[in-house]
Amino acid sequence: MHKLSMAGVGRLRTVATLTAVLVAACASTTAHPSPLSIRSPTVAASAHPLATLASKALAKRISHTVDDGPTPTTTRPILPVPLAALARATSKRLTKTIYLTFDDGPDPAWTPEIISLLEEYGAHASFFVIGENAKRWPALVEREARDGDTVGDHTWSHPALTNLSDSAVYVELGRDRNLVTTLTGEAPTLWRPPYEAFNTSVVGIASGLRMKMQLWSVDTGDWQLPGTEVIVLRVMAALHNGMVVLLHDGGGYTRSETVAAVAVLIPELEAAGYLLAALPSAGIGR
Ligand SMILES: [Zn+2]
Repeated sequence: MHKLSMAGVGRLRTVATLTAVLVAACASTTAHPSPLSIRSPTVAASAHPLATLASKALAKRISHTVDDGPTPTTTRPILPVPLAALARATSKRLTKTIYLTFDDGPDPAWTPEIISLLEEYGAHASFFVIGENAKRWPALVEREARDGDTVGDHTWSHPALTNLSDSAVYVELGRDRNLVTTLTGEAPTLWRPPYEAFNTSVVGIASGLRMKMQLWSVDTGDWQLPGTEVIVLRVMAALHNGMVVLLHDGGGYTRSETVAAVAVLIPELEAAGYLLAALPSAGIGR
């Protein structure tokens, strides 16, 4: 079956709705051909600089979605202005920062969906990749780095490091670190322990590799597939400035709930004044 994300469905529905609105608007202006009624939507959309920006952003999305249409840009002047686009356009409103982080990827099914959503909104996030997956799908890690997202070390094969010898821990962390360095052109400065399993010995070995442990402030439990709404609500209920959110773009048979949640969260968080940022090299928190 053709895999269409919920975000994709949402976009298509938006386009369908907008098309209906446009048809109605055209019919309306035809039925009442006063100059004012024809010109007013254009004037309204172009009068405010934010509205123009937002309209351009939406027109870009639509032309991207219905690229087989004859002249998609002709719809631009009378599009409604999405709130998230307005929030983005006024950078002063994004006064708080949130860090979305994704573990266990890259995954060829779900990682591209998440990266595309981030790119669409100009948002950033961080990816703690497993070496075995990065080796199979290196282009996804390269794309994350190219976008300005942070790529961190999540070990080569995702073991509980506390069960391993020091030399095995060194290999697990070091091998992934080397591959990430090769793919991104920069050595990762952050790592995250699989299963949250760490002790002073493990942390010390990572420090020797010049990597700081990065945990999280909110665990969405998305890997347990609690439902898209639950994932979204767990983030929104705990919302605070500087929050680090744990999500997963790989490691299970489906991450569709995570993708759908991210599609909801990005505009919600922006509307709430949050800048979605990549983790700084020094990490956040303890
Ligand atoms: Zn993991």
